Amino acid sequence: MSGEGDAPQAIRKLQPGRLVIASHNPGKVREIAALLEGRGLDVVSAAELDLPEPEETGTTFVMNAELKARAAADLSGLPALADDSGLCVEALGGDPGIFSARWAGEGKDFAEAMRRVEAKLGEIEDAPRDAHFVCALALAWPDGHVEWFEGRVDGTLVWPPRGDKGFGYDAMFLPDGAAETFGEMEEDAKHAISHRADAFRQMVAAVF
Ligand code: IMP
Repeated sequence: MSGEGDAPQAIRKLQPGRLVIASHNPGKVREIAALLEGRGLDVVSAAELDLPEPEETGTTFVMNAELKARAAADLSGLPALADDSGLCVEALGGDPGIFSARWAGEGKDFAEAMRRVEAKLGEIEDAPRDAHFVCALALAWPDGHVEWFEGRVDGTLVWPPRGDKGFGYDAMFLPDGAAETFGEMEEDAKHAISHRADAFRQMVAAVF
């Protein structure tokens, strides 16, 4: 870790060549590959390389993204990119946070996960409804070097949920300044302001 007063560390550039997307979710791999198009990268997924999925034992989004990227880079000998994301509700001390997927249970029932968020808010008198989505990206090289980026979008939670265009907690998240929830917005409109877009913008500006 570089302390205050240290010389700023140069960001390592990502050279054209093979890049592992450290995810076993084909939808996520496709989305990330599309965001990186035209950069001379030959994108391959962790699933295609038959890499195991590491357990997400980190306590922050960045730690979990790093753990996944590092495992894929170590095992493949190639640079690897991983993300970790979730919804943080201020009145719930940042929950569900890194456990956002787990709140939906085995059946990945996000209607239930949203009800759970709403029920927890209901237990707090006059709970503020502020929330934000976070997306952490970690880019790891086989020699152990890692770059991190963290994107964020702020908003408030509405109830009942509105719209069926998104996924996860989209239908209860109204981004600041918007009239529609992420669940009501067209995909392009969400992608212009989302936490994931913010993180990718930072990464692209830094490593290319
Ligand atoms: P992971 O990054 O694949 O572990 O996903 C974490 C969980 O956070 C997802 O399953 C969703 O529930 C939630 N999440 C992350 N990004 C979004 C989003 O853009 N909209 C809605 N839910 C999201």
